[in-house]
Amino acid sequence: MKYISTRGNVNKIGFIDTVLMGLATDGGLLVPEQIPQLSEEKLQELSKLSYQELAFEIISYYVDGEIPENELKELIQQSYGTFRSSEVTPVVKLKDDMYVLELFHGPTFAFKDVALQFLGNLYSYIAKKTGETINILGATSGDTGASAIEGVRGKEGIRICILHPHGRVSKVQELQMTTVHDESVLNLAIEGTFDDGQRIIKEIFADLEFKNKYHLRAINSINFARILAQTVYYFYAYFQVAKEKDINSLNFSVPTGNFGDIFAGYLAKKMGLPVGKLIVATNENNILERFIKEGVYQPGEFHSTYSPSMDIQVASNFERYLYYLLGESSSATSALMDQFKSEGKITVNEEQLRQVQADFAAHGVQGEECLNTIGKYYEDTKYLLDPHTSCGVAAYEACNGQDEVCVTLSTAHPAKFNESIEKCDIEQNYPEEIKALFDKPQYLEVVEASNEEICRQLEKHFRSSLADVK
Ligand SMILES: *Cc1c(COP(=O)(O)O)cnc(C)c1O
Repeated sequence: MKYISTRGNVNKIGFIDTVLMGLATDGGLLVPEQIPQLSEEKLQELSKLSYQELAFEIISYYVDGEIPENELKELIQQSYGTFRSSEVTPVVKLKDDMYVLELFHGPTFAFKDVALQFLGNLYSYIAKKTGETINILGATSGDTGASAIEGVRGKEGIRICILHPHGRVSKVQELQMTTVHDESVLNLAIEGTFDDGQRIIKEIFADLEFKNKYHLRAINSINFARILAQTVYYFYAYFQVAKEKDINSLNFSVPTGNFGDIFAGYLAKKMGLPVGKLIVATNENNILERFIKEGVYQPGEFHSTYSPSMDIQVASNFERYLYYLLGESSSATSALMDQFKSEGKITVNEEQLRQVQADFAAHGVQGEECLNTIGKYYEDTKYLLDPHTSCGVAAYEACNGQDEVCVTLSTAHPAKFNESIEKCDIEQNYPEEIKALFDKPQYLEVVEASNEEICRQLEKHFRSSLADVK
C-alpha cells in the first residue's frame, strides 16, 4: 500500500512516512493510492471480532507489513487498554431506529482518544525504531489538545506543543490540557480562534526548513493515521447493530468540525461497509451544511456555540473528500484548492452536487435546538447527551428517513461541557477523574496569534530536544 497526495506532487510513500509527513509536502493531504475492498465474506468474518482484533485487521490493510504483526497487535492493545470500557466503543440503543456509539471512554472523555492513543503509541514506536526525534505541534479546538498530550506524555523522545484558543474552550478541556506538569508539554493559549491556530500551524508546517530543523510532526486530523483509527469504529458499530437488528445498511450521524471523523465513515463505506447516508451534523458554524445543500464551500461568520469543539470554519480534511468527488484527479483538486485560496470559495457543478447529496445529508443545529434536544432526550430516556452528540441526534431527527436505522456518534462525555448542560437546568455528576482536575495548578502561556510569536515559543521549547539529535 502506497500513499499519494491529493495534489499529486509527492512521490509515493509507505505508511510510516505518511504518518511522519502529516500534511503532504505539496500542501495537499495524503491518501491511500487504492482503497482496499472488503468482500461480504470478509465482513462476515470481521463481525465476530473484538474491538482490538477488528482494529488490527482494518489497520493492517493500510500498514501493509511495515510494522511486524506482533508489534502492531501490541501497539493496539496498549492504545485501547487505557479505555474504561472493555468494548472500547460500546453501542447503546436509544430508540428503535437510533443507536448511540459512545466514543468517550478513553482517558480524556472525548472521541479524539480513539485515534490519539493509537497515534501516540505509533510515534513512540517510530521514535524507538528509528531514533527519530519527534516534536509534535498541534492546534486544538479543545479536545485534540488534551487527547494528544495524554497520548504522548511520558513517552521517551517525544515533545509536544499545543495551541488552543484562549478562553474559547470549556473549563474541563482547559484543565485537562494545562494541568499536565511535564517538561515535554507546552500549552500555548493564543489570543484568537481555532481557525487562527490551525492556519498558523499549516503555515509553519509548510515552511519545510523550519519543519525539518525542529523535526515537527503533526497530530491534527490531517494525519492519515487518525482517520484510519477512526474507521475501525464504523465497522464495529455496524456489526453490533447487525447482531440485534436485520439491516441492509446503516446511516451514521456525525457531529462534524474538521471533516475528519465523517471522512473516516466515508472511507469505511468505500471499503465496502454497507453505509447508507452519512449525516453531517454541524452547529451554527455551518460551512459544511451549506456545501452539501448548495454546492458552495465558503467560510461564513465565526460563531461561539454550545458545542465549541465544532466551532470551525475551514474543515481541513475536506480536501480528501474533494479529491474523491473529482474522480481522484489531483490536477482538478489542486485547481479547486487554488481557487479557494484566491477567491475564498469553491463551487461545484450540478452533477458533482448530485454526487455530494448522494454521499451526505446535512443539518446545521442552532443553539436552542441543541439544548432542547439534550433536555428532551434526558426527559424521555434519562440519557444525557453532550452538546456535540446532541447536534448529531438533532441531525438524525432531521435527516433519517422512514425505515432507516441510524447510529449517532457520541463524540464526548457531557461532563466535558457542563457550561452547556447547566443551561438545560440539568445537574450532572462528574466522573472522579474530572473532579480531580479542579484542584491542580495550571501550566500555560498566553500568546499573540502570530507566526513569529509561535515560532519563537517553539524554538525555545524544542531546542533542548535537538541537543539529543544525531
Ligand atoms: C473534534 C470534535 C468533533 C469534530 O470532529 P472532526 O473530526 O473535527 O469533524 C466533534 N465533537 C467533539 C466532542 C470533538 O472533540
